[in-house]
Amino acid sequence: MNTDFDDLLEANRHYADNFALAGFDGVARAGVAVVTCMDSRIDPLGMIGLEPGDAKIFRNPGGRVTPQALEALILAVHLLNVDRILVIPHTRCAMASATEHELQERVGASAGQDASWQSFGVVTDQREALHDDIHKVHAHPLIPDTVKVGGFLYDVDTGLLQPVD
Ligand SMILES: [Zn+2]
Repeated sequence: MNTDFDDLLEANRHYADNFALAGFDGVARAGVAVVTCMDSRIDPLGMIGLEPGDAKIFRNPGGRVTPQALEALILAVHLLNVDRILVIPHTRCAMASATEHELQERVGASAGQDASWQSFGVVTDQREALHDDIHKVHAHPLIPDTVKVGGFLYDVDTGLLQPVD
């Protein structure tokens, strides 16, 4: 039997002991969706005072508005009660501080094989990328103008969100 996840499954049993979301239909109670980075320093609910059940969260390296993020946002807006969208890249993000080549080299060294064929979507200018991403959300024909879309840079050293116009 696979024991690789025993510690986590044990924790899950404790979690389920006080499970409060049974029967919940999975809308975003607070009407909020967040697109942010996979970075472990980010608590996407806690940073804006929300709790499980309140928001739709979509994460990827860099917190980019990818085609998959747009799919999620369209569903969130039309089916899951979302009327405010926050796009939140962050300071000291690996996706914005390394070059594509550097990441390929580091992954290649870890993998013990060539990784130059793998793209990582590195960002050279975070603010410019954020502008583009906000525009992608606004411009999507299936996301109505009534939906508010905001771009913010999260500071992983202070916990503060800075609006980016
Ligand atoms: Zn990041």
